[in-house]
Amino acid sequence: MALINGNFLKLQNNYLFADIARKVAAFGQSNPNAKLIRMGIGDVTRPLPQVCIDAMHKAVNDLADSTTLHGYGPEQGYDFLRELIVKYDFNARGVDISADEVFVSDGAKSDTANIVDIFSDNIKIAITDPVYPVYVDSNVIEGRTGVYDGTYWSNITYLPCNSENGFVPSLPRDKVDLIYLCFPNNPTGTVLTKEQLKVWVDYALEHDSIILFDAAYEAFIREEGIPHSIYEIEGAKRCAVEFRSFSKTAGFTGVRCGYTVVPRELTGTTPSGERVHLNPMWNRRQTTKFNGASYITQRGAAAIYSPEGQRQVKEIIDYYLHNAATIRTTLTKMGYTLCGGVSAPYIWVRTPEGMSSWDFFDHLLNDLHIVGTPGVGFGPEGEGYFRLSSFNSHENTREAMERIRNKR
Ligand SMILES: *Cc1c(COP(=O)(O)O)cnc(C)c1O
Repeated sequence: MALINGNFLKLQNNYLFADIARKVAAFGQSNPNAKLIRMGIGDVTRPLPQVCIDAMHKAVNDLADSTTLHGYGPEQGYDFLRELIVKYDFNARGVDISADEVFVSDGAKSDTANIVDIFSDNIKIAITDPVYPVYVDSNVIEGRTGVYDGTYWSNITYLPCNSENGFVPSLPRDKVDLIYLCFPNNPTGTVLTKEQLKVWVDYALEHDSIILFDAAYEAFIREEGIPHSIYEIEGAKRCAVEFRSFSKTAGFTGVRCGYTVVPRELTGTTPSGERVHLNPMWNRRQTTKFNGASYITQRGAAAIYSPEGQRQVKEIIDYYLHNAATIRTTLTKMGYTLCGGVSAPYIWVRTPEGMSSWDFFDHLLNDLHIVGTPGVGFGPEGEGYFRLSSFNSHENTREAMERIRNKR
């Protein structure tokens, strides 16, 4: 009898995007001529940097010749990419990371979900609320989250992020072993200062916990004093794994490339109390279950580290941040309360008095023909909030803001 992993049956169906799609489809049926503006997008809309396109074309040609062919590559990624990552993403910021601490992958979603493989089922995890759903579901599959009461899992420690704490999570009251942090944040668009992140590193060092730091939106940071890597904080190499992605940085959502840093100093504990290094464990996990990101993809990713590549990446992100500024300015002038959109592509908007996340969704869709994302879909603390995305054209963003201003 092939018994299944029963934890899969505990996964809560993520109705959010299905519900949105259903409502949008119904709207389209009854309003075939309406021009919908989609501001719920968590995907890039601009073409990839030209340097990446050129590098990938060239890499395809390498495969057309037996003398430059690349078959299976190193599971951890090619040295040419790992060395550029180390030099530009870390050494340039005064962080001493070496190439064998960097594991290139097919993206941050897989890595943030797969990292649970190297930890015991008997650990206590903490997540922020609202949150990127992958962190929760990957732990549900491992059977680590306890019982679901319709709102909360019994064995997850929730760290509420709301207007009272400025969307900055407070330390948990009970001791936790694994802490998921994502900054710049999806969905709230907020960032942590060095001092605010240091509070978490100090907690982790004191309680022997590990921080899983998702820095997928690092390239959007425009404010001074905001750490680009958790390793800019003293001691973080002893308590943190960092995830990066080329998806939002260079438009690689469809190409697929990211990387994870597991420092050599980082350790966990065996059931008998001995310390074990996590870097060789993650290496073993990857070499067993993963065969590396494609050569073409890694050549494309490497191209962003040239001066011209850096310029093109900045130009594309500036384009989105311009949209974010348009949204912020318009809504702030109208009296909306919001955060995010300065060093992040998302704006987290308080819904008007008395309106739930879904009420506001229905209003924007039916009256203004704008699609966004109801905040409650990211967690209970998201109720009464709405996520608008700057992944769009200037024209659409401006038109959406005009509709909201004119209420039509
Ligand atoms: C988009 C996103 C990622 C990136 O995932 P990829 O698999 O690299 O495309 C990671 N974390 C968060 C929170 C995201 O929003």
